[in-house]
Amino acid sequence: MSNALHVVCPHCDGVNRLPEARLADAPKCGRCKGPLFTGEPVALDAARFEKHLGKSDLPLIVDFWAAWCGPCRAIAPVFAAAARELEPRARFIKIDVDANPALSARFNIQSIPALFVFKAGAVAERQAGLSDPGVFRRWVERFGA
Ligand SMILES: [Zn+2]
Repeated sequence: MSNALHVVCPHCDGVNRLPEARLADAPKCGRCKGPLFTGEPVALDAARFEKHLGKSDLPLIVDFWAAWCGPCRAIAPVFAAAARELEPRARFIKIDVDANPALSARFNIQSIPALFVFKAGAVAERQAGLSDPGVFRRWVERFGA
């Protein structure tokens, strides 16, 4: 018997329940029919993030960033590559801190980029910045399903 997981759609935020074994079969959203995994980080605002945080059984790897932040731009390709490689074991999310100040306050983010892992609706790990891609990969893989 395989485990069923709740996967939140990156397009419509619909909650899909599917067997863990089907995660890698390019599953589609039951509500909007879009692909549940696109291999790309999903940009979310506070309201949408709340749904993913509350409903997703997958670990959420979140990059808090801003357009003016040079180091954020520098890690963006590494973050995107990790999404391509590690989906569907985790959901990769980007949150613009300028547009979502309440979230930065809630998670006490003092500097960006700030990388977080959320599991079961709570912070599992946080890290300021990103030293190199290899370190980031290993860090993320610890949280893969
Ligand atoms: Zn959908």
